[in-house]
Amino acid sequence: MPDRQLISGDRQVEDVQFEAGLRPRRLADFTGQSKLKENLSIAIEAAVKRGEAMDHVLLYGPPGLGKTTLASIIAEELKVQFTATSGPVLQKKLDLTGILSGVRLHQVFFIDEIHRLLPDVEEMLYSALEDFRVDILVGTGPGARTHSLPMPKFTAIGATTRQGLISAPLLGRFGLVLRLEPYGEAELKAIVNRSARLLNVLVDDGAAGEIARRCRGTPRIANRLLRRVRDYAQVRADGRITPPVAQTALDMLDVDRHGLDEIDQKIMRTILEKYRGGPVGVTTIAASISEEPGTIEEMYEPYLIQLGFLSRTPRGRVATEQAFEYFQVKRKLLRDDQPPLFQDP
Ligand code: ADP
Repeated sequence: MPDRQLISGDRQVEDVQFEAGLRPRRLADFTGQSKLKENLSIAIEAAVKRGEAMDHVLLYGPPGLGKTTLASIIAEELKVQFTATSGPVLQKKLDLTGILSGVRLHQVFFIDEIHRLLPDVEEMLYSALEDFRVDILVGTGPGARTHSLPMPKFTAIGATTRQGLISAPLLGRFGLVLRLEPYGEAELKAIVNRSARLLNVLVDDGAAGEIARRCRGTPRIANRLLRRVRDYAQVRADGRITPPVAQTALDMLDVDRHGLDEIDQKIMRTILEKYRGGPVGVTTIAASISEEPGTIEEMYEPYLIQLGFLSRTPRGRVATEQAFEYFQVKRKLLRDDQPPLFQDP
C-alpha cells in the first residue's frame, strides 16, 4: 500500500522547516502557473505604482500547489509585512480581533484554509475586508455595545482547497480569485532540479523526470520524494541521484508509476470494478469510499482527469480505456449481475 503520509498533499510538521528552505521568494523563481503569475504581477505593479494596498486575493487549488508560497511572494514583491493565520486557528471572534488589531498599513494578511472559518468569525471578517473596520464588543450583558474601529488598509490573501465551500458574501469580497492549475511534467522537473541545487545534491536529468512523473502533479510531494531519494542515494549509492537510484528508491516507498495515493486508487477501483467503468455519480463514489463528494471533486479528480484516467460527463464519471489498462481491470471479466449503474439525480 502506498505510504499515505508521504504522498498525500497534507503538510506534516517535520516538513515545514524543510519546505521553508525550498520556498521560492520571488515571482520569477516560482515555476509554472504562467497565467496566474501574469495576473498577479499586474496587480502587484499597479498597487506599487499607486502606493496603495493591493486588492484582496483568493487562491484556490489542491494542497501543495503553492498557495502559501505565492502569498509570501506577494508580500515580498510588495515589500510589505506578512502575517499568516488559518481558518481552524481562529476559533473565536476575539482571536480575529486580536490579530487584526496588529495589522499594519498595506501589509499582507494571509488566511490559510479560509473555508474552515466559523460563521461568526467569517462575518466579522466581512467588514474588515470591505470597509477596513473591525467591530469590537465592549462590556457584557444588556449594556454591551459594539464599537466599530477603523483599521489600516491591507491586503487579505485567502487560500482554500475547497472553493465550493466559500460562501458567496466572502467570495464577493476578493477582487482577485485565482485558481492554481495542475503542474505539467516539465514544470515539476524544473522544480526538482531547483530544489536539488538548493540541497546541493546531484540529480541526473532522467532521475528528475522520474520524480516529476511520480509526484502526483504536486510540488510539495516532488520535494518530499526528492528528500527520500537523496537519503537513499547517500546511504546506498555514491550520493548521486541516477535514474536507477531514483527508481529503486521510489519503488521501495511504494510510490506507483503515477504517484497515485490510496484515495486515488480507491476512487478508480470503485469506478472500474464496482461500477464497470461508469458512468457513476460523484456522490455514489463518495459514499462507497466514505469520502466527501466535494473533496473528491476538488482534491482528487483534477489529477486523475489530467492523467487521462477519468472524464466528467453529464451522466457521471467515466473511466477511460487507459484506466482499465493501468489498473489491469478487464471489461469482459466483469459480471452482468453487478449492481445497476447509479447516477446523481
Ligand atoms: P499550499 O499552500 O498550496 O499547500 P505551499 O505553498 O506550501 O502549498 O507549497 C509547498 C512547497 O512546494 C513549498 O515549500 C515550495 O517549496 C514548493 N512549491 C510549490 N509551488 C512551487 C512552484 N511553483 N515552484 C517551486 N516550488 C514550489
